[in-house]
Amino acid sequence: MLITDDHMHLYKYKREKALEEFKKAGGTHVFLVTLLSKHYGIFPRKGDDFRQMFDAHIKLVEKANKIVKAYAVLGVHPAEITILGEKLGYKVAADIMKDALDIAGNYVEMGKAVAIKSGRPHYRVSEEVWRLSNEVMLHAFKVAKDVGCAVQLHTESFSRKSIEEIARIARKAGIKLYRVVKHFSPPAIDVFEEVGIFPSVIAMGDNVLKAAITGDRYTVETDYIDDPDRPGAVLGPKTVPKKVKELLKMGYSEDFVMKICKDNIEKIYGIDMD
Ligand SMILES: [Zn+2]
Repeated sequence: MLITDDHMHLYKYKREKALEEFKKAGGTHVFLVTLLSKHYGIFPRKGDDFRQMFDAHIKLVEKANKIVKAYAVLGVHPAEITILGEKLGYKVAADIMKDALDIAGNYVEMGKAVAIKSGRPHYRVSEEVWRLSNEVMLHAFKVAKDVGCAVQLHTESFSRKSIEEIARIARKAGIKLYRVVKHFSPPAIDVFEEVGIFPSVIAMGDNVLKAAITGDRYTVETDYIDDPDRPGAVLGPKTVPKKVKELLKMGYSEDFVMKICKDNIEKIYGIDMD
């Protein structure tokens, strides 16, 4: 049986030890996502400067693969618009982010990563920053469409209206909606199924079970950050295996688990997990 965490970070707290814990609890596959540029000690002034972060991440994922099967997701976090924009101007920041997404796309083409990450700020921003952020996200969808990969999204809190709007932007780029993954999703499986975007359900409380009651079109994640200042945030590395095993105890079959941890993942990311 496979147990997959769809969105986790390794930063500077437990690093590979977090994956040892994940494995011990039953975890087999993990999607490791880049953090913000500042976590890598860089202040990008051009898209190319993100290469340093991507290369560091790919090295980390190579090491991670000695423990479990790990896939790299290369992101340009939507909050970069604020961090870079305050110093360089928001238009320049958006251009840097688009260039960085092009580079992330190149890495996917080279087989070094399986997906890219984009989105739009989860906090209130000016109209200009919101418009630019939507442009950056549209660009991410275009890059993913061109290289044939998935996009993980970090966005504002879930509402039907917001995912419908994101789906409209994705459609403009021509990317298949099941390749657009809303990270940190609530268990609103039916709404996501209707709209077409794929939910990566955050394994908090009884979210995983609540999702299972509604359907099997979802994946599961911890958004583990691996930050010594916030140990165990958002959820600890053992959480997904624990929650998935709870499903089995509640009477859900191994086939059900394979659907959310393998079939859905293979479909979204276009990978073969065997
Ligand atoms: Zn995250």
